[in-house]
Amino acid sequence: MRIAMVSYEVYLFAKVGGLADVVGALPKYLERQGVTVDIYMPYHKKVDENAAKFGYTIEKLSEGIELPVLSTTEKFDIYKTKLPGTKDVNVFLIANEYYFSADEVYAGPDLAEQAIFFSNAVLEAVKKLNFTYDVVHVNDWQTALIPVYMKTVYRNDDLISRAASMITIHNLGYQGIYEPSYMRFAGLPDYLFNIDGLEFYGKMNFLKGGIIFSDIINTVSPTYAREIQTKEYGEKLDGVLRMRSSDLYGILNGIDYEEYNPATDKRIYVNYDLNTIEKKKENKRMLQKELGLPERDVPVIGMINRLVVQKGLDIMAEIMDYVSLLDIQFVLLGTGDEEYEEMFKKLGEKYPDKYSINLKFDVVLAQKIYAGSDMFLMPSRYEPCGLGQMYSLRYGTIPIVRYTGGLADTVKEYDPITKEGTGFGFEGFDPAHLFEAIAKAVYFYNDKEHWGTLIRNAMSTDLTWDSSAKEYVKLYQRAKSKVQ
Ligand code: ADP
Repeated sequence: MRIAMVSYEVYLFAKVGGLADVVGALPKYLERQGVTVDIYMPYHKKVDENAAKFGYTIEKLSEGIELPVLSTTEKFDIYKTKLPGTKDVNVFLIANEYYFSADEVYAGPDLAEQAIFFSNAVLEAVKKLNFTYDVVHVNDWQTALIPVYMKTVYRNDDLISRAASMITIHNLGYQGIYEPSYMRFAGLPDYLFNIDGLEFYGKMNFLKGGIIFSDIINTVSPTYAREIQTKEYGEKLDGVLRMRSSDLYGILNGIDYEEYNPATDKRIYVNYDLNTIEKKKENKRMLQKELGLPERDVPVIGMINRLVVQKGLDIMAEIMDYVSLLDIQFVLLGTGDEEYEEMFKKLGEKYPDKYSINLKFDVVLAQKIYAGSDMFLMPSRYEPCGLGQMYSLRYGTIPIVRYTGGLADTVKEYDPITKEGTGFGFEGFDPAHLFEAIAKAVYFYNDKEHWGTLIRNAMSTDLTWDSSAKEYVKLYQRAKSKVQ
């Protein structure tokens, strides 16, 4: 089985959020299942710097390739490198000076044109390289036009037509909705622009195209796969998703156990495992010191997030003054919307001995927070899978979550009677429930026996990619059977 995996983000070459972690890790585990994986990603400006940091070399394969389908004279080059930690996973980089000139991943002259350019270039690269794939597996709206092309413009192409397509929705909140004029630029036939195709309230919706034209659709947790078929979570695509429900699956993401291992992680202060859990306290003390918080044995609540409305920051805003009355410390690491950056900055100034606010992107500090905190907060409004709670479980840091999407599938409410469970949470999305969950966690923190059990339960949770990779192989087979 040979898979082309297409993504805008791939750890360690370019990371913004969870998508990079998934595409950076899943191929490693697919390889162990005997699947051959080639990754296709844009040659973002960041890639060189990141590859150099880790000593990866990049070679040029081909240059000046034209895109006859598009209304553009821009050409692209193909470069190649390897995915770290794999034997033979190729990473093909699609390079173009004009479209991928920005420092950030989701930036550049025109994000819609850029996504169209990249999506079409991937298929032309496959032709140029003369590869045959069983499945082309695309991720999120930026690559969602690929299945559309495969079933329309490229349906008679010898190589492309042999492949099935699959789209993974990592976050339905981002759909790629643009003016209909981009249909022309993309060279897509006019008949696709209607309500049963790419049209969405008079605009062109890239993700909708991917949902309609892919052979298989999946998302990153079973609960989220169910939720997105409802009005509440469906972001106006619930109807289309219900229509495709027999081909819609949910597979929980795993985490990379080698990269995220408190026993070997070089980014944290002191390594520890289940047998040396007392060293976690040392990480806490050092974290407090580094961030200028008093070195006291109070529960430290960590939070690492993009600061956007999805993450439940509006209900946090309402309770942070009350939370300051508890004997706790709060450490935030995140960047995002100005409104929330401002809110947290003010809270940090108001409670300097309690709240440490770090408005930056810093993967090393992130690990120190996973290791040095006692609790980890994720009160998300919705959460397709969520990685933060999984990393925190792995590092023995007890999650406090809203039970939605992947958070509901990975965190189990602690039961003091059976002593089962790995965290604390709430269901109704409101500030009072959030506060109650935090207070509950703080209460149990003060009972050393329960807290010790919780840490052991958390660190023993199986969050590996192995079982999820097997599920992906099954879905690839299912997709493949649809084109034979
Ligand atoms: P999402 O994909 O919605 O951003 P996830 O929880 O699935 O949320 O993944 C977020 C990932 O990005 C986690 O690995 C988290 O640690 C990391 N992350 C988020 N913000 C920062 C930051 N400011 N610095 C370092 N890592 C961050």
